[in-house]
Amino acid sequence: MSKPVRFERVLIANRGEIALRIQRACRKLGLETVAVHSEADAESRHVREADVALCIGPPAAARSYLDPDGLLLAAKLTGATAIHPGYGFLSENADFADAVEAAGLTFIGPTGASIRMMGDKITAKRAMRDAGVPCVPGSDGPLPADMEEVHALAREIGFPVIVKASGGGGGRGMRVVQTPDELTQAVTLTAKEAQQAFGNPTLYLERFMQKPRHVEIQVLCDTHGTALWLGARDCSLQRRHQKVLEEAPAPGIEPDTIARIGERCAEACRRIGYRGAGTFEFLYEDGVFAFIEMNTRVQVEHPITEETTGIDIVAEQLRIAQGEALHIRQQDIRQNGHAIECRLNAEDAATFFPSPGTITRWDLPGGPGIRVDTHVVSGYTVQPYYDSLIGKIISHGATRAEAIARLRVALAEMRVEGVSTNIPLHQDLLADPQFQQGGVDIHYLERWLAERT
Ligand code: ADP
Repeated sequence: MSKPVRFERVLIANRGEIALRIQRACRKLGLETVAVHSEADAESRHVREADVALCIGPPAAARSYLDPDGLLLAAKLTGATAIHPGYGFLSENADFADAVEAAGLTFIGPTGASIRMMGDKITAKRAMRDAGVPCVPGSDGPLPADMEEVHALAREIGFPVIVKASGGGGGRGMRVVQTPDELTQAVTLTAKEAQQAFGNPTLYLERFMQKPRHVEIQVLCDTHGTALWLGARDCSLQRRHQKVLEEAPAPGIEPDTIARIGERCAEACRRIGYRGAGTFEFLYEDGVFAFIEMNTRVQVEHPITEETTGIDIVAEQLRIAQGEALHIRQQDIRQNGHAIECRLNAEDAATFFPSPGTITRWDLPGGPGIRVDTHVVSGYTVQPYYDSLIGKIISHGATRAEAIARLRVALAEMRVEGVSTNIPLHQDLLADPQFQQGGVDIHYLERWLAERT
């Protein structure tokens, strides 16, 4: 690993709300910012407020935000000596992290080697199992070419199973198989899709868990051997394996149970020499945690952990990348109250079709315990080229009930005109008695949606 070098100017290789979030953290620490943007994002808020802004290409992400050479050239032209990748785009691209460091710049994230290890879910699971982190039972390696052997493996694991792509991400590249006669076709189809989407047809099998919750642990690690866990988030409300609403801490799970798995994660980080922010994702069922994957970047839902712990995760990423030692101690990290985040998407609340267009009215909520992370202003045009996230409403309260109440008031205060949003969906969810009780499983939202239609 290259020695950390102090930097003064950071290139933010992203767009949207996370670009603005990173810019704020840079400014707080007195760092200058370089905004890079596609032609479609020239009017974006973080572009206007950056110290330097540079257009890096046409709207298509492949020719702008996903172009490593363009980003490195932009850093050179603007004198930025560090690159923050945000989430999505090149944030978990090990070759990009290596290229940044090879160019003598600082990649604000883990080493390319760590990203590579975690980017392949099979090697990630192996490494975690070796480090003492409990994993979802499965094939413990790539599927053999011989279908007879695959069938034998699946029988051993027990149906239903889930076929997953080792290089998969974003909720894609997986298929549930209920009975043996569906297995061969599922494997063939998923391999084909995985090759197309991720350039890697390697598959593995896991037991398909029937009613788990998605519970994840946030970690922060410096380059001096300190690894901390910052508590758990519950991200069980998902549609098509994509998170919709998240909360911290995970309701109904004993703090001691979280502490035990948190410590396992921190220990695994020390073992593999992990640096920066990261998230261990688990399925949690019947009191047992089972690792599914690690994300080696800041996550969309990081603010709920910031609200409950008071730790500025993005600022810590920047400090760690500068070679600073973490000044926080594990015993000082508190879980203060409860936080919930709604992801606001420009999409139809019932059909989920994207709803690009110009936002003509954008009135934000406020008051105690309400935080809004968004790049949108009135007059902003939601582009069809990128994901539909237009902001995040985050509430914090002394109790879960207070966080829910504050969030409901906030959503009722919001006025958005010009595009459709999923605000009505969030309002209905927050009013749902089962959600209010807490602890619903990962299939709950889809069942609930199916019952409504
Ligand atoms: P991705 O990298 O695409 O996000 P993950 O492995 O993190 O994929 O899985 C995403 C979601 O898919 C999980 O949060 C969960 O809802 C579901 N899932 C994944 N593995 C299993 C499993 N073994 N059993 C049941 N659901 C699963």
